[in-house]
Amino acid sequence: MLHKLALLRDERVEPKKFRELVREISWLVGYEALADARVQQIRVPTPLEETDGFELADRIGLVPILRAGLGMVDAMLELMPTAQVWHLGLFRDERTLRPVEYYNKLPDSATVDLCLILDPMLATGGSATAAIEVLKKWGAERIKLINLIAAPEGVRAVQQAHPDVHIYCAALDRQLNEKGYIMPGLGDAGDRQFGTGHG
Ligand code: URA
Repeated sequence: MLHKLALLRDERVEPKKFRELVREISWLVGYEALADARVQQIRVPTPLEETDGFELADRIGLVPILRAGLGMVDAMLELMPTAQVWHLGLFRDERTLRPVEYYNKLPDSATVDLCLILDPMLATGGSATAAIEVLKKWGAERIKLINLIAAPEGVRAVQQAHPDVHIYCAALDRQLNEKGYIMPGLGDAGDRQFGTGHG
């Protein structure tokens, strides 16, 4: 994972390779985050005899934050093929610096037991906190945050507002800069995945 992280940060890495790395690291972090998903005991007929086994008991919801979270979805669906995917669009109002919700098609009440919020970068924690609030209002009882790189400021903000939400990430970086970018970070995770950084 450390090797993959170094490549992910490298500005010379092209979007195709960057997307592959996002996917691979998401798989590794996602695997850790799913380790305590609940299972229930079942009986399984092998060709020789009946034995004990387990099946997933949690209904899992993946909640990618648009747009950078999209690149994490496929890896998580590989790990959890039956998961529901609920996209959430949030952007930061440059005047108030508060997250504004622009896409949310969640039904009236929660349809999952465990929600995994997918966002490669945990920077100020503004959108993560807003997403957690949306999901708690929806009725989600267990929520985890899956990031690739986190800043200490973002971790603190989420832990303070939502101490029950566990954060999983591949790297904890030094700090935010004055524009809210994670240092050393990797730049803009959306632009680097989708090749939109030169406009
Ligand atoms: N979002 C990004 O894509 N990169 C950062 O460094 C911070 C927020």
